[in-house]
Amino acid sequence: MTRRLAVVGSGIAGLYAALLATDAGADVVLLTKGALDQSNTWYAQGGISAVLAEPAPGDTVDAHIADTLRAGAGHCNEAAVRLMCTEARRDIAGLQRYGVAFDGGQAGEGTAGSTHDAGGPALGLEAAHSAPRILHAGGDATGARVAGALIQAVLSRRDAGKLTILTHTLVTALVARDGQVAGVRYLQDGRPAQLDADAVLLATGGAGQLFSQTTNPAVATADGLALAVRAGAAVADLEFFQFHPTCLVSSATAHPARLDGPLLISEAVRGEGAVLLDSGGRRFMQAYHPDAELAPRDVVSRSIALHLAKLGDPTGHVYLDARGLERARGKGFLHQRFPTLTRKTLDAGIDWTRELVPVAPAAHYWMGGVTTDLNARTSVPGLYAAGEVACTGVQGANRLASNSLLEGLVFGRRAVEDFLLGTPAWGSPDGATDGLDITRGSRLSSFGGDGGLDTAFSRDALRRLMTSHAGVLRSGELLAEAASTLDRWAAVVRPDLEGAADPVACEDRNLLLAAQLLVSAALNRTESLGAHYRSDEPVETAHLSSHRPKASLLHD
Ligand SMILES: Cc1cc2nc3c(=O)[nH]c(=O)nc-3n(C[C@H](O)[C@H](O)[C@H](O)COP(=O)(O)OP(=O)(O)OC[C@H]3O[C@@H](n4cnc5c(N)ncnc54)[C@H](O)[C@@H]3O)c2cc1C
Repeated sequence: MTRRLAVVGSGIAGLYAALLATDAGADVVLLTKGALDQSNTWYAQGGISAVLAEPAPGDTVDAHIADTLRAGAGHCNEAAVRLMCTEARRDIAGLQRYGVAFDGGQAGEGTAGSTHDAGGPALGLEAAHSAPRILHAGGDATGARVAGALIQAVLSRRDAGKLTILTHTLVTALVARDGQVAGVRYLQDGRPAQLDADAVLLATGGAGQLFSQTTNPAVATADGLALAVRAGAAVADLEFFQFHPTCLVSSATAHPARLDGPLLISEAVRGEGAVLLDSGGRRFMQAYHPDAELAPRDVVSRSIALHLAKLGDPTGHVYLDARGLERARGKGFLHQRFPTLTRKTLDAGIDWTRELVPVAPAAHYWMGGVTTDLNARTSVPGLYAAGEVACTGVQGANRLASNSLLEGLVFGRRAVEDFLLGTPAWGSPDGATDGLDITRGSRLSSFGGDGGLDTAFSRDALRRLMTSHAGVLRSGELLAEAASTLDRWAAVVRPDLEGAADPVACEDRNLLLAAQLLVSAALNRTESLGAHYRSDEPVETAHLSSHRPKASLLHD
């Protein structure tokens, strides 16, 4: 009998896995909570890293592995990194078979610094990569181009009766039978239903909505992590959340609704000479780092957060002042140098040639997730996870730019290959080194910290709490306070109960559980590492910045 795979999520990991499994003859049901194009994947800009030949001109798989390990701050699972970098070219070819066209280096399409072989894709260079190896599509529209092609491919298979797609379908729980995951429960148009399956692949993406400012779209609410934890799965590395230093704060603009998603303001704008000002119009970065606005980007993120905290406005924003560039470089410079940013800031109601741009650090990518082995198996039989929801260990404590789309591809495919073998005996994931097994919530209630905030639970209150207490800047005191408030909310919101027919309440419970787990992990790690920064560690920011490896967020 044909075995059924339920794939949850329509980002790169879910779409690619669904296509591979369908083409291999499996009975595939793809469930996604919004439209097919609602995903983090859609917004990816920079591209996908891959070494396309071994050796490639000026590059090797070993160099890609070394760059990834360095960015991960010594915290990566080396076997997983080796496998991902080695198998990358296979899945790039897989994407091309499904209709993804990468830029070929022709005028107007490539990013600056691209190289290409005759007839091959253009390869961009990003900071922290030691060679040009970033494939891109539509210039900086890589995610939309990749997802767009994969969506066309799944729709054509759906039309041919080979694949079932359920959109606007929120998966609310995993079904367990005889100690094995055997399907999902979901809400569609407010009605609960159940789907039986031989295995489930979680490809539900990240959790940027945990924080007030995020580059992630609204669907990134940590659902997959919460579903897996409630099913008893181990999770790991949850303290590592990467923040982008300067994201437009759309709520502080005249026309937030006119933006089609979060807007990253590239470091290149500061590179050209734009400066950061606080709400009093004062430049503040020189007080935090000798390189001021050009300090490494995690230092810029931390300095902004520190300055806002000092001003008593930890969830507030600062301003990017690019006005001087027009004065110094001539009228029309900003439009010519940054056409997309000029258009998008104008859409939001800001003429940045003469007005300030409100910006703040924004939650961007979660390195941690559901612990998986090299075949994307979680610790629960019948449950796979791939993409941002998973923790294979390839991202370590800090992700190298353009490695996350690649991770979704490689491990999404490996999940399918494992499933097609017939799900033989299911041991513990090889990668489950520091897996945190929190299934019943009791361990979450054990933190002291009586400071707690008195606010009642709401998603907005949770996001503000996480930003001020567990975001870019962390300390034992702040984290204990956050833990205590989250525990108090959890007693009321009951994250362990399955939601009724209210999708928003389901997401709230998921965010709350994920927040508890993140704060618990951050409390446990008392030293700073990668993207996890403890301000109560007795070292200077400047000292840290010169010793800790950095990941690039330049285009990504
Ligand atoms: C602005 C931005 C730029 C980026 N640029 C790059 C880049 O250049 N290169 C790079 O490698 N990475 C980049 N990243 C990171 C990368 O985009 C993501 O890590 C990656 O796309 C995650 O893919 P995924 O398939 O795991 O999840 P996603 O693409 O997030 O997809 C998750 C899917 O699961 C669905 N879902 C979630 N919960 C449920 C539920 N309960 N029920 C049903 N469906 C559910 C969602 O609706 C969504 O369809 C960027 C991220 C952002 C936000």
